[in-house]
Amino acid sequence: MTTVHLQGKRGLAILQNPLLNKGTAFTEEERDTLGLRGLLPPRVTTQEQQLVRVLDNYHRKESPLEKYIYLISLQERNEALFYRLVMANLEEMMPIIYTPTVGLACQKYGHIFRRPRGLYITRNDLGRVKSLLQAWPQADVRIIVITDGERILGLGDLGANGMGIPVGKLSLYTACAGIAPAQCLPIMLDVGTNNSALLADPLYLGVPEPRLRGAQYDELIGEFVDAAQQVFPKACIQFEDFGNANAFRLLHRFRDVACTFNDDIQGTAGVTLAGLLSTERLTGIPLAQQKILFLGAGEAGIGIGDLIVEALKLQGVPEATARQQCWFVDSKGLVVQSRPDLVEHKLRFAHDHAPVMTLLAAVEALQPTALVGVSGMPQTFTEEVVRAMARINQRPAIFALSNPTANAECTAEQCYTWSEGNAIFASGSPFAPVTFNDITHVPGQGNNSYIFPGVGLGVIASESTRVTDEMFYTAARVLADSVTDDDLKLGRIYPDLKRIREVSAAIGTAVAQVAFDRGLTASLCPTDLRGYVESTMFNPTYPDYI
Ligand code: NAD
Repeated sequence: MTTVHLQGKRGLAILQNPLLNKGTAFTEEERDTLGLRGLLPPRVTTQEQQLVRVLDNYHRKESPLEKYIYLISLQERNEALFYRLVMANLEEMMPIIYTPTVGLACQKYGHIFRRPRGLYITRNDLGRVKSLLQAWPQADVRIIVITDGERILGLGDLGANGMGIPVGKLSLYTACAGIAPAQCLPIMLDVGTNNSALLADPLYLGVPEPRLRGAQYDELIGEFVDAAQQVFPKACIQFEDFGNANAFRLLHRFRDVACTFNDDIQGTAGVTLAGLLSTERLTGIPLAQQKILFLGAGEAGIGIGDLIVEALKLQGVPEATARQQCWFVDSKGLVVQSRPDLVEHKLRFAHDHAPVMTLLAAVEALQPTALVGVSGMPQTFTEEVVRAMARINQRPAIFALSNPTANAECTAEQCYTWSEGNAIFASGSPFAPVTFNDITHVPGQGNNSYIFPGVGLGVIASESTRVTDEMFYTAARVLADSVTDDDLKLGRIYPDLKRIREVSAAIGTAVAQVAFDRGLTASLCPTDLRGYVESTMFNPTYPDYI
């Protein structure tokens, strides 16, 4: 029997607390003891019966946005039931609580707003950030997801509306890796917005001023990281959906002094690397012999390139050789040394090569084994490009990772058709299976949710003080190893989403092991690390209160 701390709460205070509430499932005894008698309809139901009701209600909602509002409302009244529902229907509901629907919800955030969730720190809070964190009702926060809303998914600057992203990401931490909801803290760092439509919208709920930049911005972020380390010393800080100039800077500023990572850079890298490692089993070409051409040289692309280099270094390949395996095309053509316009994060992948202006020309010139789309530009993997990849390779890897669905570089159907069924395809947003020449291909979804929840789980379980690239490499390796031969037969290079908790537990264990092996924690490694990691995972069945 689980005992749960009600902290002296009784009656409505329990029913109105989503972490404690179990609605009509309170037993007769609990109703009497906890002052609930009369506050609930008389019939006691089980969580299973409640599940039938909420699933039914969910299915009655017609649009994805209505489904999103329904799920968020459920989360606000009964977290355990919300997670039971989402975990039992993850494939169906992940696109609602996260990309693509969460993007739509963020765009309309001020208009669909019901209740606040998470913590808002604004540019006007400089000097008092610590007191805001201290006001948060939970003391044992282990994961903070923070955004400043500048680059929400592929949708750009959504200012304070971006709060939907940390909220959604943390829901995935719980659903995919069992991080307890009470240990999760979503934060919106509202530094203003340069989105003129939002500034003009009277229902916009953020600070209606242009974005803070420069020294004051840096000071605010610095104050936040210091305060978070003091108030929540065991918390890992995940930076999410920052604009790319800040994302790289902040990662480098904090990665060696705090327990922090950037999911857009490192999580994306982990899941893409796992995909490339899985293709080894289909093509027979090891990572060390792959040549990867990226369309897009931003947070996602450069992050993937960096992790591939790290992975190859761990396999014994010299860094200079490893870098030569990753090539980038951005909006101005191939990233080469002679270009005078390159920002810092692209320089390390600027190779000695004649200028090449188009993706097709780059494919012909470089003859890559894999093409990775992270440009946010739809339909840029044209028929000519895909056909060229299929001519050069027996089984080309083609990953169209740009989100949301409408931004994908090509669709699954286009990719399988143009490559005559030979491409190994993965996408950022989900695509349905495609039948070509009587063979059904199941597209892999290069969804960060395969990586970051497991990494977070391992960091929390080991109480690691840092998050390292080796952890993301390890996570990618474990993810790739969890792909079954049956998955591969269908062309699927990621495991079935239904196995996500098991996969996250395996990733969490391996990541925790890295923390112990590298001395990144003061904790002692449990003898049965896997068992320990699993024992920390939140289970959404109701506790008994008495
Ligand atoms: P970003 O703004 O940091 O980078 C975009 C890059 O694309 C820039 O280098 C830009 O120069 C380049 N670009 C723009 N137009 C181009 C064009 N016409 N041709 C070639 N390059 C062009 O953005 P980001 O964070 O790197 O994200 C890029 C895309 O990747 C987004 O659509 C995002 O949704 C997607 N993404 C997917 C996943 C995932 O599926 N796992 C994770 C992260 C990002």
